[in-house]
Amino acid sequence: MIEIHEDFNLKDYNSWKLEVFAEKACLPTTVEEIKQAQQWAQENSQPVTVLGGGTNVLISDQGVSGLLIILKNFKGVEVLEDKTNLKLKAKAGTPKFELMRHFMKYRLSPALFLSGLPGDVAGGVVMNAGVSEARTPREFCEVVESFEVLKPDNSIKTYNKDEITWVYRTSKGWQPGIITSVTLSWSLEKDLEIPKKVKEANMLRLSKQPLDQPSCGSTFRNPEGTSAGALIDQCGLKGFEIGGAQVSKKHANFLINTGTATATDFAQLIKHIQNVVLEQKNIQLQTEVKWLGNW
Ligand SMILES: Cc1cc2nc3c(=O)[nH]c(=O)nc-3n(C[C@H](O)[C@H](O)[C@H](O)COP(=O)(O)OP(=O)(O)OC[C@H]3O[C@@H](n4cnc5c(N)ncnc54)[C@H](O)[C@@H]3O)c2cc1C
Repeated sequence: MIEIHEDFNLKDYNSWKLEVFAEKACLPTTVEEIKQAQQWAQENSQPVTVLGGGTNVLISDQGVSGLLIILKNFKGVEVLEDKTNLKLKAKAGTPKFELMRHFMKYRLSPALFLSGLPGDVAGGVVMNAGVSEARTPREFCEVVESFEVLKPDNSIKTYNKDEITWVYRTSKGWQPGIITSVTLSWSLEKDLEIPKKVKEANMLRLSKQPLDQPSCGSTFRNPEGTSAGALIDQCGLKGFEIGGAQVSKKHANFLINTGTATATDFAQLIKHIQNVVLEQKNIQLQTEVKWLGNW
């Protein structure tokens, strides 16, 4: 039976490095264990929350009630037989970095796309993660062929990518459930320049983003036709801080933990930014980051 931990510290499981707690948490390594966890929650009338790489979540200081299923230890990639495409079947908690290495080995362009994306493969599907640069592929939906979801009745359903509505930083049509595996596919057309391009893209990101400080990447969604970072910058908010939460001086859509931030600091900073941008620009910013736990 899967081990259930009480009062589980999530500091090492969220990229803002916030010391927040799950009432109960488990770290399954197999689909069977994920099923056991879900069944345990149902039998004990506990709500279930899922955490992938924790690179796009703001977890409340009041913690997460019920059972948190952390998928970080449920990882691994299988290379499937295919003559024309590189086809990879990845367990939900496989880091995108791991997929990047497979595409890189074959000099395929998804390596460039994946090199800038933290978190796990399932988190990439949930968020339809993507990059702002004009690249092919540019969004997760372009590399996904299908994925499997564990439904609340413990059955597994496979979704083909065409059955899903993919929009900017969201995928719809598979919920409710827990994504357990993702199959990615890309034509075996080599681009020998890929390693060079990845290197250049990494250098560019390092120069523009505060990657040495804990963040969740872009906190706000870009409003239609404009950039959230530019709007925040134009409102003079770079460097503004509440408690230990600060608007990065390097990239205004990155909110960083300067060392002592709480989730409440981030929540207040987010609200402040939304108020100022609404007042000065008449634009209501929406968070890209997901709010997890008891808000
Ligand atoms: C430095 C930095 C840079 C970033 N740059 C980008 C970028 O360029 N583009 C971009 O799109 N994003 C970016 N992000 C945000 C983030 O990495 C992506 O959104 C990523 O895809 C989230 O994956 P995750 O595994 O961390 O998901 P999590 O943060 O763990 O979860 C995100 C949501 O998905 C749900 N979820 C996770 N796994 C499952 C599952 N198996 N089944 C059901 N629900 C699940 C969670 O409950 C939560 O609601 C960046 C983040 C950081 C820290």
